[in-house]
Amino acid sequence: MKVRLKPGRERSLLRRHPWVYSGAIDKVSGSPASGETVEVRASDGRFLAWAAWSSQSQIRARVWSFEEPDKPDAGWLRGRIGRSLALRRALGPRDGSGRDNALRLVHGEADGLPGLIVDRYADTLVMQVLSAGIERWRDVLADALIEQTGCARIYERSDADVRELEGLPARTGAMRGDAPAVPLEIVEHGLCYAVDVIGGQKTGFYLDQRDNRNRIRELASGREVLNCFCYTGGFSIAALAGGALSAVSVDSSGPALELARRNAQANGFDAPRAEWIEADIFRYLRDARSQGRSFDLIVLDPPKFAPTERHAPAAARAYKDINLNALKLLRPGGMLATFSCSGGVSADLFQKIVAGATADAGASATILDRFHASPDHAVLLEFPEGEYLKGLLLRRN
Ligand code: SAH
Repeated sequence: MKVRLKPGRERSLLRRHPWVYSGAIDKVSGSPASGETVEVRASDGRFLAWAAWSSQSQIRARVWSFEEPDKPDAGWLRGRIGRSLALRRALGPRDGSGRDNALRLVHGEADGLPGLIVDRYADTLVMQVLSAGIERWRDVLADALIEQTGCARIYERSDADVRELEGLPARTGAMRGDAPAVPLEIVEHGLCYAVDVIGGQKTGFYLDQRDNRNRIRELASGREVLNCFCYTGGFSIAALAGGALSAVSVDSSGPALELARRNAQANGFDAPRAEWIEADIFRYLRDARSQGRSFDLIVLDPPKFAPTERHAPAAARAYKDINLNALKLLRPGGMLATFSCSGGVSADLFQKIVAGATADAGASATILDRFHASPDHAVLLEFPEGEYLKGLLLRRN
């Protein structure tokens, strides 16, 4: 099957950006099925890429390879898995203890496997299939993962909303091996966490924040901490391990908080040092202010308010609101670690929003550091969209 682009529309592919939008396509020979491999050619006929066809998505084709001899087949895909694992090995050990056993092994486009996410939790792999191309090759990829990692099982969590855009139904369940007994236990920077890979959010844990949680641990000594959007307690437990005097943690999810409590106890942190509150953050921050509460370290790690740029204006208002209200609870000399995982909000825009919030709070702040996703969430230079997580570490002056 061949796809010919409109004149001039080959430019992004020549820079090795891996997406072909439907509007760039001039002509399709034959009628490729969703997930089928197509040959993408420029309007003058020259070869550009092998790509997976997605008949229902605006991103109509996702590139497997820019090399003409590399038409993807099972062997080629096994090689891509091998390359992903080699990249993670090249990152070296993630903590001194050598006990860490959870990381992202495959990060979609950045690993040349658009739409495939694989997270490792001890000897369980959790796989998300998010594109028609990966759906077509899922068995080959699953076999390669078991073979090359030596893990006992793969559990599938293909229940992300983006599957709908690809015309794929949600699917979850054991894919290789038995279903895991949940929650599973993992170790991250020497701390242990229970992860519910079956019922938890995403693949069960936010591995992208691993090194940032550790950074907060280094900064937390002697501080009273507020962790907003705490999920299963990661930043709170890291802060307590770093010598925080106390950690108040807030999330709207009851099941997440239940696991958070259990995680804190497993690491030796109990009430009253650790306090867990089920609430909506937008409300909680206002209530805490009217109760006269204040903190020396606040973490703000909200869910994705803007999946795409179209959602950016509404997201900007939400980011501004929580940052402004968090700053009002921060004592002078206190620190704010504020994050955005929205693809639709650039690091630059995020910094502007936070600056606006700081000004409106009548405060001044200094940037002490910038946060990114942990390096196993690889970023391909040609695909900056992959760098979704950004954050600022601020000191209130
Ligand atoms: N920092 C966490 C991950 C946060 S994910 C970690 O290190 O693991 C975002 C969290 O925000 C989820 O747990 C979700 O339940 C919660 N959430 C979403 N909207 C919320 C709201 N309006 N108020 C409180 N929590 C919310």
